[in-house]
Amino acid sequence: MTSPRVNLLDFDADQMAAYVAGLNEKPFRAKQLMQWIHQRGISDINDMSDLAKSFRATLLDKAEVLSLPIIKDEHAADGTRKWLLDVGAGNAVESVFIPEDDRGTLCISSQAGCAVNCRFCSTGHQGFSRNLTSGEIIGQLWFAEHLLRNDPEAVRRIEKYPTPGWEHTGRVISNVVMMGMGEPLLNYDNVVSALRLMLDDRAYGLSRRRVTVSTSGVVPMIDRLAQDCPVALAVSLHAPNDQLRDQLVPLNQKYPLHELLDACERYLPFAPRDFLTFEYCMLDGVNDSDIQAKELVRLLKNIKCKINLIPFNPFPESGLKRSSAQRVNAFASILLDAGMVATVRKTRGDDIAAACGQLAGDVVDRTRVRERAVHDADIITELPEQPIEWLKKLN
Ligand code: SAH
Ligand code: SF4
Repeated sequence: MTSPRVNLLDFDADQMAAYVAGLNEKPFRAKQLMQWIHQRGISDINDMSDLAKSFRATLLDKAEVLSLPIIKDEHAADGTRKWLLDVGAGNAVESVFIPEDDRGTLCISSQAGCAVNCRFCSTGHQGFSRNLTSGEIIGQLWFAEHLLRNDPEAVRRIEKYPTPGWEHTGRVISNVVMMGMGEPLLNYDNVVSALRLMLDDRAYGLSRRRVTVSTSGVVPMIDRLAQDCPVALAVSLHAPNDQLRDQLVPLNQKYPLHELLDACERYLPFAPRDFLTFEYCMLDGVNDSDIQAKELVRLLKNIKCKINLIPFNPFPESGLKRSSAQRVNAFASILLDAGMVATVRKTRGDDIAAACGQLAGDVVDRTRVRERAVHDADIITELPEQPIEWLKKLN
């Protein structure tokens, strides 16, 4: 029986070096392989022309470069692209490319589904199936970068609005955000391995400031990330107090706000910029009042941060509504008047449901989250049919 081939996308630079050493090849072969794969986008080992024939033969026998099969490729009117990728066993995840005048951002997924089960998130609503491998995570960047480089529409756009790195490297994607499906810090090792490739000059060479991990607040892993790979950090806050956050982001019951904010303070000295980002999804009548804005100011006034207000992107099962534009502006004004830095996120790719929290993919729910939701409803006796009414009562 032949053993299965290794996927070379699974290796960061150290792992590639160890793999190549294990095949009794010289260290510079690892660098060549990284460049062929990540910089040139080559997946056929036969095409890696400066590798010795005997080495290529060994690799053809033992290794491959395999990214996720594409189920759907959607184009939005504003240039946003969304890909639905097959991760097997009935599961699919999504990646989104968002072109802007000064950058090209790829939003990638880290898990099929998510076990955190935030009330307002369509990924969470589906439950959790599995962690993506590091190859499946970096494979999203590998595939999108090389597809876009050869896409006339993307090239026309980038010639008009060159992104940082384009002139020297031909790179279309200048920024990566781990804001797709899943909680990146609950798939820590694989995410860090993929992050290292994003930063590595032999691979994508992105600056730490242009790679962002977004987390719902896995406190111990925030500390580990500071040591292992301190990229930009965005923390999904969504509530100014524990009572409400416990309900919106159930992970808060494990890591309450004071622990989370302490971890943020500890991260700051390692962060690539001198501030962190807090994300706050604006839910009509739930977390968007003037009183809550003032509470948020008190909570965050001593931490160097930027607050990113995200108008809620509805999905049918949530029972929640987006705050009105006036409410978002009034909330933002309170933050700004108190001297905080706050922005309102523009919604992109509306016509292809590519916005934050709308990435549903297709997940076979191994955690049976929907059944558990019914069970929770038995425990929390005051949980009414419509979660919005129940959340409003908390305020
Ligand atoms: N699990 C990570 C990263 C993925 S979610 C996290 O929670 O941070 C990326 C961002 O989208 C998070 O800030 C999340 O709270 C937000 N989000 C989720 N569902 C949303 C929705 N329906 N509308 C707007 N933002 C949403
Ligand atoms: Fe998971 Fe993030 Fe969605 Fe919460 S918002 S369920 S942590 S993906």
